[in-house]
Amino acid sequence: GAGLYFVATPIGAARDITLRALDVLASADVIAAEDTRSLRRLMEIHGVPLEGRRILAYHDHSGAGARGKILDALAEGKSVAYASEAGMPLIADPGYDLGRQAAEAGHMVTCAPGPSAALMALTLAGLPTDAFFFSGFLPNATGARRARIEALRDVPGTLVFYESPKRVAACLSDLAEVLGEDRQAAMCRELTKKFEEVRRGSLGELAAALQGQTVKGEIVLLVDRGHSETINESDIEEALTRALETHSVR
Ligand code: SAM
Repeated sequence: GAGLYFVATPIGAARDITLRALDVLASADVIAAEDTRSLRRLMEIHGVPLEGRRILAYHDHSGAGARGKILDALAEGKSVAYASEAGMPLIADPGYDLGRQAAEAGHMVTCAPGPSAALMALTLAGLPTDAFFFSGFLPNATGARRARIEALRDVPGTLVFYESPKRVAACLSDLAEVLGEDRQAAMCRELTKKFEEVRRGSLGELAAALQGQTVKGEIVLLVDRGHSETINESDIEEALTRALETHSVR
């Protein structure tokens, strides 16, 4: 039916695409993509014919022109599929402005969901998953990066970052310096690909291991939440009372 369909694409292994995503790509009136060539190739791999359709290039930065075309198609009652280059659209990828404006204009907006590097990394990292904070890419400049890390110090959940191989060593050493060497962390690399790797350890250990090394591939960094070292008196009292109560019952 009419509306905007976000479509998740693989983050490495080409077969990590859902049957529903392929159905949406096969049947959409209009197809738009962040990277038209990689979507065309993916459709070829899975035998989804273009059938006279063109793939429009769309990025949130392509501006109102390209977005206008898609919104016009939606207004004409067409179905539009949109895929970013990899993984879930909008997750450190374009699509936010498009989705927001389509929803504001009253169009149906949905998604054929699929893999996302952040969630796969959380699944593998061995760090708590009950609460997490996705912080995308850290700033490139050291000062801004450290300030950002500082602002995340007390977030009560696992921190998740996307990082480039060039900067990962510098990032880990900044993380260790600002958050402390002992915080547990993980580096997930090349997920779903041939050289998939998960390294777990403290920030200090990971930073030391990467010192002066060249790292390749795509990376997700994860850092455990900070555990408060100061115990206040009311917590102690409460714990003691609870312990005494349990004993008197027995
Ligand atoms: N939309 C994508 C998603 O849902 O994961 C993320 C797109 S973002 C522009 C690209 C970044 O995601 C990479 O620099 C890397 O940090 C992370 N990433 C993507 N694929 C990955 C993979 N296979 N293994 C590890 N990290 C990956």
